Amino acid sequence: MSETDMKLVVVGAAGRMGQTLIRIVHEMDGVRLHAAIGRPGSPVIGRDAGEIAGLGPIGVPVTDKPLEAFLDAEGVLDFTSPATSVEFAALAAQARIVHVIGTTGCSADDDAKILAAARHARIIRSGNMSLGVNLLGVLTEKAARALPAAGWDIEILEMHHKHKVDAPSGTALLLGEAAAKGRGISLAQHSVRVRDGHTGARSRGTIGFATLRGGSVVGEHSVILAGEGEMVTLSHSATDRSIFARGAIAAALWGRGRKPGFYTMLDVLGLN
Ligand code: NAP
Repeated sequence: MSETDMKLVVVGAAGRMGQTLIRIVHEMDGVRLHAAIGRPGSPVIGRDAGEIAGLGPIGVPVTDKPLEAFLDAEGVLDFTSPATSVEFAALAAQARIVHVIGTTGCSADDDAKILAAARHARIIRSGNMSLGVNLLGVLTEKAARALPAAGWDIEILEMHHKHKVDAPSGTALLLGEAAAKGRGISLAQHSVRVRDGHTGARSRGTIGFATLRGGSVVGEHSVILAGEGEMVTLSHSATDRSIFARGAIAAALWGRGRKPGFYTMLDVLGLN
């Protein structure tokens, strides 16, 4: 450990991503686990964060006092729920620290509150923190721009583990936004999120989504560009959750010296 290590708080410490973050912060150079936050009333409060993450004791007990932890920290890594991330964004703004948000499924109202908090906090948010997926987004935008809507239909297919509670995934929406940007259209006005029964023929220029759920799949995404007599598929497979944790930590380190504002992984990776 060094004096210059960035002091990070992991919120949602008991969650799948929370535990992965605790392990990766512990093993990575340049960062230190300053505190771990659990949901008030959770059985993990008071337990050692290393123990719940399968590392053995590391001397950091899980607490339910986020503001106390944020005031003396430099960044917070947040993969929780939309309502919780909105709450933490206001606290991170109060503490003027870096807030990395991986939580997906936020509503337009949640987004507005998070943007408001970014007036004081340095917020970096992405529906997917992996380098590969963010590159896939850039490739999707280019492909959607190059292949005209008149002859090419865009469909986005995703599969995740059976515990995932929101659909389509944040990554599928990120890819949909990239495709819409390439086509110069608004995703909200052109997306088809569900098909069931007699739907009629496909409308030209729409971007379709299909969702599969099952088993322990970490994340599979394909962008399919279907033309007359040919098809292009761009895809990404995540086999290990640690890619999201490594990306989130890279984002926190990148955000350390920045001005308050709202950033994405494309800024972190210099792909914007
Ligand atoms: P999870 O296992 O359900 O973990 C969420 C954790 O947040 C739970 O432990 C929950 O505690 C905790 N939590 C909820 N409210 C809290 C509060 N007020 N204070 C402290 N902790 C609180 O879910 P997950 O699989 O880790 O995923 C979490 C989120 O990250 C989801 O939105 C998922 O889609 C997203 N995700 C994003 C990426 C990316 O790269 N952007 C990658 C993976 C996952 P309880 O269990 O006690 O309720």
